[in-house]
Amino acid sequence: MIITDKRAKFHGGVRPPTYIKGIVLHGLASGTPEAGVRYIVEPGDGRQVSYHRIFMSNGDITELVPDNKLAWHCKDWNTHTLGWCLGTTNKKMAPNALISFMSELDLIIKKYGIKWVRLHSSINPKKIDPGAVLDWIMLAKFCAVRGCRLITERAK
Ligand SMILES: [Zn+2]
Repeated sequence: MIITDKRAKFHGGVRPPTYIKGIVLHGLASGTPEAGVRYIVEPGDGRQVSYHRIFMSNGDITELVPDNKLAWHCKDWNTHTLGWCLGTTNKKMAPNALISFMSELDLIIKKYGIKWVRLHSSINPKKIDPGAVLDWIMLAKFCAVRGCRLITERAK
């Protein structure tokens, strides 16, 4: 189930769907996906951060920013990407969350003609997220048969 009644406090303006080229995968800094959602809705420390979706342990997907607006998850990359938070960092995703993530990824790759998916850590060397939350080789194959590339390492 996609939950749409939670909205990020901070996000950018509207963009045409043709701007969406890729997906950046993030992990949670700490705590549960529920705490992650609460933080994006009302960040206690006023940090201006948001994701389009967070994948919950029970398989629900919380949509915090609609795809046609910019989420603030990866600085210069925000305009052309979707920001997805996998709901955990350095711990395997819950099975239900993983299934939701894979089916949502399939849908969204087709919907926008997504050509690449990257880990946040492959863009910014200071970031360690999302870490070992799922089998990246399996995901790379899943993406490849859909004409999409998974990028896990930073370009040299
Ligand atoms: Zn991140």
